[in-house]
Amino acid sequence: MRFDIATLFPAMCETVVNESITGRAIRAGLMECYCHDIRAYTQDKHRRVDDTPYGGGMGMLMQAEPIYRCFLDIEAQLGERPHVIYMSPKGTRLTQQRVAELSRLPNLFILCGHYEGVDQRVLDKIVNEEISIGDYVLTGGELPALVLVDTVARMCEGVLSSEECFTQESHYSGLLEYPQYTRPPEWEGMTVPDVLLTGHHANIEKWRREQMLMLTYDKRKDMLKSAQLSEKDIKFLQSYKKQLAQKAAQGQQEP
Ligand code: SAM
Repeated sequence: MRFDIATLFPAMCETVVNESITGRAIRAGLMECYCHDIRAYTQDKHRRVDDTPYGGGMGMLMQAEPIYRCFLDIEAQLGERPHVIYMSPKGTRLTQQRVAELSRLPNLFILCGHYEGVDQRVLDKIVNEEISIGDYVLTGGELPALVLVDTVARMCEGVLSSEECFTQESHYSGLLEYPQYTRPPEWEGMTVPDVLLTGHHANIEKWRREQMLMLTYDKRKDMLKSAQLSEKDIKFLQSYKKQLAQKAAQGQQEP
């Protein structure tokens, strides 16, 4: 898969993508990621890429032309139109499901805004979708773009050692992941749950599933509405809710 990031800060993006798992995937030829300096596409003799907004208001806006020229250059290099994403707090909030869909595309062109944002006309002309990484505002689209590249890359074939690395994780199955432990078996007086030391695969699986259900119920009840639950899961959750209600009633009775 190929990523093209259009940004005013290419060095910032290059530093991050060339580290850790994405860096290894790039060196192994499993993915490509190119960071393009939008300023290199301006025809302004002072290399300006921003201007004041029509109608007044605070701050500066990125101009349409350098972004459009950058897009046309990448489109020509690819020989096809890439899927264009504008990182924006006005976009649709990123989910694991959308990440999985995006990981099946051959290439993504990711536009990072800066200042107060981007001239709407270039967004109307080239952008396929706007994606937000959360309901808060950052100074630029670089961190959101890096979040997107990281999360999409880890779902591309071969980037992680096996598919299980992500299929067992929080959000993939619609539930939060179970708690995990490593050596030593006892630390600061705290022990690892006995079942994990038994080597009994079926019991461990059962314990993990129940932990996922309880954690999701405790922390993110909203996720349970769309999670795929079996009859067994639903029964387990009903008995867990009963247990919680009983505990709460006992707590109220205590002085
Ligand atoms: N004036 C814009 C608004 O109110 O919607 C915010 C502009 S923000 C300071 C500058 C750039 O950061 C945006 O153009 C966008 O590319 C990026 N950005 C900021 N917050 C973001 C978020 N939550 N998700 C994705 N991109 C974001």
